[in-house]
Amino acid sequence: MARIDAIVLGAGIVGTSIGLHLAKHGLAVALVDRRAPGEETSYGNAGVIEGNTVFPPAFPSDPIALLRIALKRAPEANYHLTFLPQVAPWLLKFRAASRPQRLLETARLMRPLFARALAEHETLLAEAGAARLLRKQGWLKVYRGERAFAALKGELALAQEFGIPYRALDTDAARELEPSLAPVFRHAVHWQGVASVTDPLAVTQAYAARFAALGGVVMRGNARSLHRANAHWRVETTEGPLDAAQAVVALGPFAPDVLSPLGITLPLGMKRGYHRHYRGGGNAALARPVVDMEVGYCLAPMDQGVRLTTGAEFAARDAPPTPVQFERLLPAARSLFPLGEAVEAAPWMGSRPCFPDSRPVIGRAPGHGGLWLAYGHAHWGLTLGPTTGRLLAEMMTGATPFCDPAPYGAERFAR
Ligand SMILES: Cc1cc2nc3c(=O)[nH]c(=O)nc-3n(C[C@H](O)[C@H](O)[C@H](O)COP(=O)(O)OP(=O)(O)OC[C@H]3O[C@@H](n4cnc5c(N)ncnc54)[C@H](O)[C@@H]3O)c2cc1C
Repeated sequence: MARIDAIVLGAGIVGTSIGLHLAKHGLAVALVDRRAPGEETSYGNAGVIEGNTVFPPAFPSDPIALLRIALKRAPEANYHLTFLPQVAPWLLKFRAASRPQRLLETARLMRPLFARALAEHETLLAEAGAARLLRKQGWLKVYRGERAFAALKGELALAQEFGIPYRALDTDAARELEPSLAPVFRHAVHWQGVASVTDPLAVTQAYAARFAALGGVVMRGNARSLHRANAHWRVETTEGPLDAAQAVVALGPFAPDVLSPLGITLPLGMKRGYHRHYRGGGNAALARPVVDMEVGYCLAPMDQGVRLTTGAEFAARDAPPTPVQFERLLPAARSLFPLGEAVEAAPWMGSRPCFPDSRPVIGRAPGHGGLWLAYGHAHWGLTLGPTTGRLLAEMMTGATPFCDPAPYGAERFAR
């Protein structure tokens, strides 16, 4: 095996983008995964490049909403009762980070990453010859009641301050954009600067192919074998042990499997989510992803059909799937859009890796020379994969980072 400068563990959208950026900086890089690129969490998302994000999802402040979740009546969230003691400390931190002042702080700290998200994808998609996967039609969030729409005021004001384009629409104007939607909602917001992809797996695959074309090596191996060997980091691959001076843990929800044995225990939580594809009933179709905000699901047009993605489920990452949210939300989804028959026999499930402050960790692993971290991208791993790749590659190669990386450092949890 030729000399390798850096091993990237995890070939999801985040790790693949990091490998690609490091290769563009001229490093010899091995991208190691137990599966082919993009087949885990990065396969199943809604495909939205959410550069419009202002506030992250917050812990519910409305007692009625909380009660519905507690009673397992809410379509937007589910939980496993036996998992509550385990997830309680994370939920308390998440609730603390959901105070208005903290949300405002998060919005400002995350802006440099979100502001760059689409441009970074556009560059990589063009270089990878995969621009056809990108759809620049924005996304549409629909609101059935006045209350939820009125609650948007602060978010829209901040969006304006950040220069994020949007249009508030009434039902008719929204249906001009999406004629297949039924008029069951009163308001909509069209976030025009948002883009989406028609096949998230194909995006990661295209970036991995571009990485290989630049000399990067894609390998199968077990990231759990990561250990120190003299002055290097070593990982076992199907082609034997692999050594490099630098290693990156970009394992999304699987990062703790590798980091805990090294004594790195950051407060990562999991928001499990599901998707299932449906054919459009009759001639019904969507031009862009649509979110039914009060019910809490997204309908995303994909090459495979209309992908219905669910909100959060708090349960152990590896516990068997319990896709009960589909039963709770399907009547509402069918009232909004004529979903036809399901494409697959069973829904897909994945886990959004989330830190309580909704910021990813991008930077050095404290106390471990040559080890870097890039995980915890929560609802925005597709959105922020290429931007993370740029930032981390700049940090690893000693280039000037395009933004201050301090807000994304692991050290923030030690304070
Ligand atoms: C339902 C749903 C909808 C979503 N919608 C969106 C959206 O519209 N827009 C958006 O930006 N984000 C969205 N997300 C979030 C996004 O999908 C994730 O943040 C993102 O995929 C995380 O990417 P990753 O590369 O960090 O992790 P992953 O894609 O999970 O990659 C981690 C890799 O590590 C590998 N691995 C794990 N363990 C080992 C091991 N022991 N050895 C070797 N390899 C290992 C896995 O095989 C995998 O390839 C959504 C998520 C869900 C669940």
